[in-house]
Amino acid sequence: MNYTKKLFRKKDIYNLEKTDELFVKAMKENATFQYNNCADYKRILDDFSFNPEALDTTSHLARLPFIPTLYFKHHHLQSIPANKQVIKATSSGTSGSMSKIGFDLKSLLRGLDMVIQVGKYHKLWSIKPTNYIVFGYQPTKTNKTAVSKTAYGFTLFAPAKSRTFALEMTDNGYKLLWDKVLKALDKYSKSKLPMRTIGFPAYTYFFLRDLKEKGIRYKMPKGSMITLGGGWKQFYAEKVDKQDFYALVKEVLDIDEDHIVEFFGAVEHPILYTDCKCHHFHVPIYSRVIIRNPDDFSPVEHGKIGLVNLMSPMIHSAPLLSVMTDDLGILHKEKCPCGASSPWLEIIGRVGVSDIVTCAAGADEYLNK
Ligand SMILES: [Zn+2]
Repeated sequence: MNYTKKLFRKKDIYNLEKTDELFVKAMKENATFQYNNCADYKRILDDFSFNPEALDTTSHLARLPFIPTLYFKHHHLQSIPANKQVIKATSSGTSGSMSKIGFDLKSLLRGLDMVIQVGKYHKLWSIKPTNYIVFGYQPTKTNKTAVSKTAYGFTLFAPAKSRTFALEMTDNGYKLLWDKVLKALDKYSKSKLPMRTIGFPAYTYFFLRDLKEKGIRYKMPKGSMITLGGGWKQFYAEKVDKQDFYALVKEVLDIDEDHIVEFFGAVEHPILYTDCKCHHFHVPIYSRVIIRNPDDFSPVEHGKIGLVNLMSPMIHSAPLLSVMTDDLGILHKEKCPCGASSPWLEIIGRVGVSDIVTCAAGADEYLNK
């Protein structure tokens, strides 16, 4: 995995042009490995008469068969033995419809390289002890969701003075432990150390809205940060305008907009997308994004809405090279004032249930072609 390793060590993390050639080489290297080590993947590529050895140009990337995330929810794909998979992660969701992905040490080391560079670029690393509120649930042996693992991972960007987990798993899903979080927030507001929150935007929003309604206001210590990850999930209907959200954070916690950072990623595509100061998710060098027409999966132009197809050579232990999400999005090519040169991905929402059925049917059709 020499090319992939090289790619993940690069420092200029939003310079796609400079890494295009290396990216294609890394994709070819990984596709060939998956083809030779994962029977299901070989079958899929063979069905499309796609020879991974022939992957030579960026335009060729669009022809690499993609695998819908839905497929991972029903098939466990792996290319290395189970005993070499050091971490097994699942997507969030009800049991029976989760993707289970095993990650080996090689993949995790690539992930670490990425997190180090992304954290540097976005100034997330700090040596100052920090109090954390995690709008997620405490990781346990039975809870293998990637979201709980990554939320915990984010508490490593700055040394943790303390961690408060805000969600509890109940039979009806997650419950926000309101009193526990309020008590922690009250304590942290009086500390000289910065506070960071991390977690689902919806829970962060519900909590802050409640505080506002109750007339509770804090002035959080200097350097405090709100970080968001995991998307809005089942709360799309509640999705608030970003500017309203930032105004709410400022009003209730006195934290400025430039200290609100959002992340995006998926268990089937564990790349760390981090929004810039203009709150755009630029595509980092570790991945490429193709927006496809939902009807025939042909790539659409920049600026047009479609299904989000994510590509990366990062994972060694499973064929996650090209993954079709059920997210609708737009890839923007306009110049961003933040200075990052790569296009940025706007997630518009998840396709509706009826659309998912169509999509699933389409994907099935696609895979059975
Ligand atoms: Zn930007």
